[in-house]
Amino acid sequence: MDPMIASKSSSLRNAVSRRDVDTPTIVMLVNPSRAVLPRVGVVGGGQLALMMGEAAAAAGVELTVLAESPHDPASTTIPRVIVGSPHEDAALRELAAGVDVITFDHELVDLEVLTSLENDGVVFRPSPRALRFSVDKAFQRQALAEAKLPVPRFVVTSDVTLETARAFLANLRGEPVVKAPRGGYDGRGVYFPTSRVETIEIFDRLRVNGDVLLEERLALRGEFAQQVVRGVDGAFELFPLVATVQSEGMCVEVRFPSELSNDLVRRANELTTQLAQLVEPVGVMAVEYFLTDAGLLVNELALRPHNSGHWTIEGATASQFSEHLRAVSGQELAPIALTKPAAVMVNVVGASREGSPQRARDVAGVFVHDYAKAWRPGRKLGHVTALGDDLASTHVRAWKSAVAYGTAAKET
Ligand code: ADP
Repeated sequence: MDPMIASKSSSLRNAVSRRDVDTPTIVMLVNPSRAVLPRVGVVGGGQLALMMGEAAAAAGVELTVLAESPHDPASTTIPRVIVGSPHEDAALRELAAGVDVITFDHELVDLEVLTSLENDGVVFRPSPRALRFSVDKAFQRQALAEAKLPVPRFVVTSDVTLETARAFLANLRGEPVVKAPRGGYDGRGVYFPTSRVETIEIFDRLRVNGDVLLEERLALRGEFAQQVVRGVDGAFELFPLVATVQSEGMCVEVRFPSELSNDLVRRANELTTQLAQLVEPVGVMAVEYFLTDAGLLVNELALRPHNSGHWTIEGATASQFSEHLRAVSGQELAPIALTKPAAVMVNVVGASREGSPQRARDVAGVFVHDYAKAWRPGRKLGHVTALGDDLASTHVRAWKSAVAYGTAAKET
């Protein structure tokens, strides 16, 4: 048996079932000594902040969120909400005044504003220096290539007539993937042109905002992801590698185990460790990998809990959310062990008609997470995680639940 698989003691099973997330306000009820807890501010009120709110009691922290609206998802689990923009100096200062440390729900932030606040003594974890790896894809590709880490072939330019860009395009088979270095997510800002004319059109549209990232379009054998959590003292722990399935740039499904060979799992562990040493994040960092015939390549880094780690809420003894909060609040990390041999997470994506989380809960052994978002076609509204003893039957239950919920995503 995989040494990471924890014993199936009944106490562990109870712990998992108690973590079902239907009663977020429990955070307040089981938290009698709030005054002495580390105070963590979260920039952004989306579903990641919502799930940090659910993990706050386990991690022993008190949260305040800076949200764009008082009705953002995180307001359902974090009672202290400051309404303001993540780009605004004044809003960030208001958040900083009431907390010991600030962390993030998303990377749509202004690094200059953060750096100037850091110079005034505000503590950000991860730091603005580390955050740059996830805020700016062009910087990330350049820094990783410099560190000799494997990435797709790429060029960063604002002028495709320059010699380097021309040579890069001339040596490609077909068209490149064209990426806006900043501000994209869930495939937004990533383009797959089919002709050179279209490539140049997209390039010209994007370059008004600065540099554009052009990279080789890879024949992917699969996509994978791994989380690492790193503490203030530099100690870190790896979560296991998972397989991810994307559709139209959006993650649809995550599977543990990854079903990769031991050699490739070892290679991913090695690369994730090197990345943690290079980036020096505090908190969770997610690494997305491409698998090609040439092996694993790094696609992206995210310096926060990540969709590919949601399964750890029930699938591991310490989730990516509780570990993130422990790390950013300067506490020791908890050991990470698995609660079951297999886990499948499926995202619930808004369909043309509103779905029903209630029906999804009728599938046995599945944990249903509703992000408290207004329904909209194409929007991530929640996720379901099934745990089990084997991947095939766990996969079936996860999809049965997601389909009952009414997801628009297609079963993989
Ligand atoms: P986002 O930051 O929006 O998640 P990514 O850069 O991860 O965007 O790209 C989204 C998806 O597009 C990837 O998960 C992958 O399926 C596909 N993709 C991105 N870059 C490439 C590439 N160079 N070759 C082939 N597919 C790619």
